[in-house]
Amino acid sequence: MSTPIDSSLSDRWAMVRGQLRDEFGDTAFRSWLKPLTLKGLEGNCVRMSIQSRFMRDWINSHYSNRISELWTKVHPEVRTVEISIDQTAAVPPNAGGPAAGAFKGGFNGVANGSSNGTGAAPRGAFSGTSQRNSPPPAPAGFTGTGERESQLDPRYNFEQFVVGKPNELAHAAAQRVAESPTVPFNPLFLYGGVGLGKTHLMHAIAWKIKEDNPERRVLYLSAENFMYDLIRALRHKDTMSFKERIRSVDVLMVDDVQFFSGKDSTQEEFFHTFNDLVNRNKQLVISADKSPSDLEGLEERLRSRLGWGLVADIHPMTYELRLGVLQQKADAIGIHVPFEVLEFIATRISSNARELEGALNKLVAHATMMGRDITMDLSQTLLRDLVRANERKLTIEEIKKTVASHFNLRYADMESARRARPVARPRQIAMYLAKQLTPKSLPEIGRMFGNRDHTTVMYSVKKVEELYALDRSFAEDVDLLRKKLEP
Ligand code: ADP
Ligand code: MG
Repeated sequence: MSTPIDSSLSDRWAMVRGQLRDEFGDTAFRSWLKPLTLKGLEGNCVRMSIQSRFMRDWINSHYSNRISELWTKVHPEVRTVEISIDQTAAVPPNAGGPAAGAFKGGFNGVANGSSNGTGAAPRGAFSGTSQRNSPPPAPAGFTGTGERESQLDPRYNFEQFVVGKPNELAHAAAQRVAESPTVPFNPLFLYGGVGLGKTHLMHAIAWKIKEDNPERRVLYLSAENFMYDLIRALRHKDTMSFKERIRSVDVLMVDDVQFFSGKDSTQEEFFHTFNDLVNRNKQLVISADKSPSDLEGLEERLRSRLGWGLVADIHPMTYELRLGVLQQKADAIGIHVPFEVLEFIATRISSNARELEGALNKLVAHATMMGRDITMDLSQTLLRDLVRANERKLTIEEIKKTVASHFNLRYADMESARRARPVARPRQIAMYLAKQLTPKSLPEIGRMFGNRDHTTVMYSVKKVEELYALDRSFAEDVDLLRKKLEP
């Protein structure tokens, strides 16, 4: 719990604010800094809140460093500053205690580029979202306190979710869970890579149920928060109330359970919670970045349990879906973005929706601040780095293809079980290059090479390193391939 705000803390905040206003100017101050609400001091961390994720992200990337510096100046104990999202920001400070949706990492050096004078976008630019899609009022029976509710992003509803081939199944299943009066499948397990909409769908389920059946108690938790709450309960010798709280819900959603990997006692507790809820016919919705069977570091019995219900994967976005999501985000902000600019972003930034949204926000913020229209020219200039980062993505398929053709082998040889040296060696080189040139993990690489074990990949990497040091012509082959593959 934060210590209540005493007058000395608010005086210091006033000093920080005054300084911020001087440094960044009136417009930027009014748009971005004034809306910050002081929540309190907890240990070395000052907690503040703001009403939208967009604003929080903007502040984190443009003002955070300076804000914490100034805080440390007026209050030497302060080490970090955390901003949480609080949709009811009009409420007097300290009314609801610290929001649990707090940005955990604090200000971990996100400020990129200059931070002076930026970001004076009028707040009206973003009000489109909340007006058109204001969430239903929170029913009193909603499990968890205000803390929990602030974790639900009002923009993450079904209306604002764009459906395409890659997420069709997950979307349909999520809707089913949200609308069905009974439990259609248990659990609903959603999985897919970063930024493909898992969290969005889970929040959408929560909003929909809150809207249609306010008496049903829904609890959404990140796996991380599940663990923190558990640890807190253990520390306060109060696991009973933790259990009661979590098990008294009608719908429990736990996001990103890959986080439980290797955390045995948390898994254990989660496993029992899971069984208890399923036995009492309560709905569970779980998400992860991998399918239940691919989740490493999870106990076998838990993994198998997770696959009991409906497992829906979300595939990487197609061009059409990327375009659709961009259009939707632009509409939600209520700003006109020329179609060719949306096409440009959708073509050049292909990784995930989070990056698409980041690109769009960057354009919008810049254009609003400078009072300019969003044009192709502006987009090309502002997004140069993002576009370049996306170009650099090398796939394991490309590596396999290049290595196979270099050694006059077939692509299939890269995956086959053949162990003859003329095939096995190049395959080892390909695995080595995959490890060197892509961010993929050993198990992921193994899977891409005919479902080999991660120890095989590890062995290949070692073997290649050995040969590289010993054999000139081998080393030349490897260097040549690396040069071909590296952008
Ligand atoms: P994940 O949880 O899978 O990492 P998120 O749900 O956080 O991804 O999505 C990242 C961002 O992309 C969010 O702003 C979300 O609204 C947006 N997004 C992802 N998929 C869609 C979609 N199909 N339609 C609209 N927005 C989407
Ligand atoms: Mg997520």
